[in-house]
Amino acid sequence: EANEKESMYLVSEFAKKYFHDILLNNEEGQAIGYSYFKERGFTNETIRKFELGYSPESWDALTKEALGKGYKLDYLDKTGLTIVKEDKQFDRFKGRVMFPIQSMSGRTLGFGGRILGNDKKAAKYMNSPESDIYHKSKVLYGIFHAKQAIAKLDNCYLVEGYTDVIQFHQAGIENVVASSGTALTPDQIRLVNRLTKNITVLFDGDAAGLRASIRGIDLILEEGMNVKVCTFPDGEDPDSFARKNSHDEVVRYLEANSKDFIQFKASLLMNEAKNDPVKKAGLIRDMVASISKIPDRIQREIYLQETARIMDISEQVLVNTLAQLVQKEV
Ligand code: ATP
Ligand code: MN
Ligand code: MN
Ligand code: MN
Repeated sequence: EANEKESMYLVSEFAKKYFHDILLNNEEGQAIGYSYFKERGFTNETIRKFELGYSPESWDALTKEALGKGYKLDYLDKTGLTIVKEDKQFDRFKGRVMFPIQSMSGRTLGFGGRILGNDKKAAKYMNSPESDIYHKSKVLYGIFHAKQAIAKLDNCYLVEGYTDVIQFHQAGIENVVASSGTALTPDQIRLVNRLTKNITVLFDGDAAGLRASIRGIDLILEEGMNVKVCTFPDGEDPDSFARKNSHDEVVRYLEANSKDFIQFKASLLMNEAKNDPVKKAGLIRDMVASISKIPDRIQREIYLQETARIMDISEQVLVNTLAQLVQKEV
């Protein structure tokens, strides 16, 4: 119901301001939350721009404050800000630093909350639960702050996490969004598609990041968009990389290392596959499978030519392989 959603937006907006205010003006917020973000290299300007916050280490600080201001428990519950158990109420994000998640038009939909430090036992990030206003699979973190730059530069960098988005902004690269906590979905890609046809995937330099990049490629191709991939050195993510390097170095790295998906896939396995015909055949089939996702025939043809050249195989064989793959699908 429209009224109900409006009330959920309002209480989310209130919580965003509350967490941000605690971070900047409350003793505990400054000592713990603000210090945490400073240690990560975030400037005051960045903290304000992304309205970063801190949720006090208390069972019900936010809940009490909101109820006192006249917000209804029902909406605190429905947005997941408060966990209601029988007659007891608990703040979901107690003791976490807070990343508000905004819609394309800037409305507060939900939150990501990070524990302080690197306790391997606790879940590092926690997100608001799915609700009538927060649909994880349809949201991209940072889209509100990135949309103009994406349209203007006609390219979108896709990263994994909140801090990757924020650190890139601070490095002066603003056309960046994160899937944050979900595997990339078609709805998320369609959000970007409204602004540009070009996505560059910048996932973490680890095994999980690599796997996610590979999955992402086919999804992006299926939407009829162009996809490049830029990998980071082992153990680095865009956040850590941008922190260690200057703006110019980051831009140069991205330019030098962004490969179209064919080159990316070829480079992934080429070393291994070069002298192994069976592996090489598998790799070629995998490349053709990605090409088969592209809706446009002419583009498919161009990528087949590129694959034939890079993999040193006749294009006719690839055309036949593609035909078989497409046939299997219908
Ligand atoms: P940080 O730099 O703060 O340690 P990160 O962003 O590099 O975190 P990753 O482990 O690379 O974290 O994960 C990428 C993203 O996946 C996170 O930003 C977060 O949105 C999401 N994520 C990570 N761990 C969890 C978790 N336990 N539950 C839900 N989402 C998570
Ligand atoms: Mn990672
Ligand atoms: Mn990461
Ligand atoms: Mn990180």
